[in-house]
Amino acid sequence: MKRLAALFSVLALLALLSCATGPSGDQELVKRAVDAMGGADALAAIKTISAKGTVKQWEPEQSDVPGGEMRFANESSWDFVGDRTTRAARIDWEKRFVYPSPRTFTFSEIVTPEAGYVIGVDANSRNAQSLQSNPPAHSMSSLRLATTQRETLRASTTSLLLAMRNNPERVSPAADIVVGGRSYPAVSYQGFVVAFDPQTGLPDRVRTLDYDSVWGDVNYDLTLEQWRDFGGVKIPMHRKTELNGRVIAETAFTDLRINPPVDSARFEVPATIRAGAAKPATGNVPYQWVIRRQIIGIYMDSENVSYDTRAAGGGGLRLQEIAPGVHHVVGGTHNSLLVEMSDYLVVLDAPVSDAQSNWVVNAARSRFPGKPIRWVVLTHHHMDHTGGVRGYLTDGATLVVGQGAAAHFRRVLAAPTTRNPDLTVRDFSRVPIMEVPESHVITDSRGRQIMVYLMDNPHAKGMLMGWIPDAKLGFVTDIWSPGPPLPPKPNPGLVAVVNAVKKAGLQPARFAGGHGSSADYASLEKLVGQ
Ligand SMILES: [Zn+2]
Repeated sequence: MKRLAALFSVLALLALLSCATGPSGDQELVKRAVDAMGGADALAAIKTISAKGTVKQWEPEQSDVPGGEMRFANESSWDFVGDRTTRAARIDWEKRFVYPSPRTFTFSEIVTPEAGYVIGVDANSRNAQSLQSNPPAHSMSSLRLATTQRETLRASTTSLLLAMRNNPERVSPAADIVVGGRSYPAVSYQGFVVAFDPQTGLPDRVRTLDYDSVWGDVNYDLTLEQWRDFGGVKIPMHRKTELNGRVIAETAFTDLRINPPVDSARFEVPATIRAGAAKPATGNVPYQWVIRRQIIGIYMDSENVSYDTRAAGGGGLRLQEIAPGVHHVVGGTHNSLLVEMSDYLVVLDAPVSDAQSNWVVNAARSRFPGKPIRWVVLTHHHMDHTGGVRGYLTDGATLVVGQGAAAHFRRVLAAPTTRNPDLTVRDFSRVPIMEVPESHVITDSRGRQIMVYLMDNPHAKGMLMGWIPDAKLGFVTDIWSPGPPLPPKPNPGLVAVVNAVKKAGLQPARFAGGHGSSADYASLEKLVGQ
């Protein structure tokens, strides 16, 4: 006990000492960094800046294997120009994607304090304004604008550090950031935690404390490396982006100019796009969704991450009864299936976010009072079809996943979620998880059945297909999106659906999808049989 007491008094003394370095210590870290970067006067003299470079990006939660290696998404070129007096910035992109399919998007982003614009096509999931504009363009949603402004400031090291120096009242103490056993003293500033290299004094990484729909509370870091001198101002020419310590992007600068002449026309935006542009969002911004969907080029730029608020009528989720007691949740970019059993409900897929799940849970409560969700089936582990899983598990449901996915979801459900904007904090670590080795059947007291089958497919390991025998209805996600016209030739995903149906000996009339709507099975079978 004495030894413990002694330890505590040492700890208390250390705490006092670290407090004693207090605010002035924080200012000292900022001042030292600004001096190491060239001094406040040199940083303040930067009026315009231009840079070129490349970036490689990976998406960890679109892996082939649940919890497996990240998916390489794109290798791209960018050309940045910023005017610090008007606080306008523009990036011209050539994004060369390899996932989910090979394609190149060439587009520009213009960001001002008031609004953000995208000129060109930057994603497969285009919103109504982009589709209606000729040439394609749209104003950024408030969510994307706030995200782009945050990331632009994070990457503009000289701007960020100068702002910290000029606004000492907004700088507060932060715990050291420890990386690879090494401690980096840090301060907080406007949502950023900036850590400094104890040797050089230069900023070493800029962290935000984000919420990720899969991994919950996450650290999102930009590391600052390979500092180079440009006429007395130091700029980090290489950066890594880390999500909970995993590198998901590597950025290399190939060119940088301080105070180049900048044509203000480059920040101009067509009047039709300028009209009605959103202001930056305040409050809860789903930063990780906005950033990470852009990494694979399928971000739909909308005020609601679930659906296009610029669609005719304002868009929105709705339940569509496609067979007795079988409700397809449609109206958004991602669907789920809600099936009524005698005493409870079953949900297939938990897409996007807990906010979307909350909408479905509330709709289910009013439609089927007294019937809790007892089973949640996930077709596969990708973030866009599982990000709302917690929202469905609040009534004591069992989670059903394909072979090889249970350990991954055990880790996911044990992750801390104190920053979840859509659910109060609760413990999901003991949620029962059932792993389906081949098939599984859920039967209610009146004999209604839902079967799930593990299927071979080119999209993700451990994928499940749903089957409701009395409705002759199947459910698949990402390998077939029923509804839109079938391609002229079958692709491996479509072939996988037909093979899984044959293997299970099913006679489907229709399929509903995690994307699209629902459609007859016969035309798919005919296409694949050709
Ligand atoms: Zn997927």
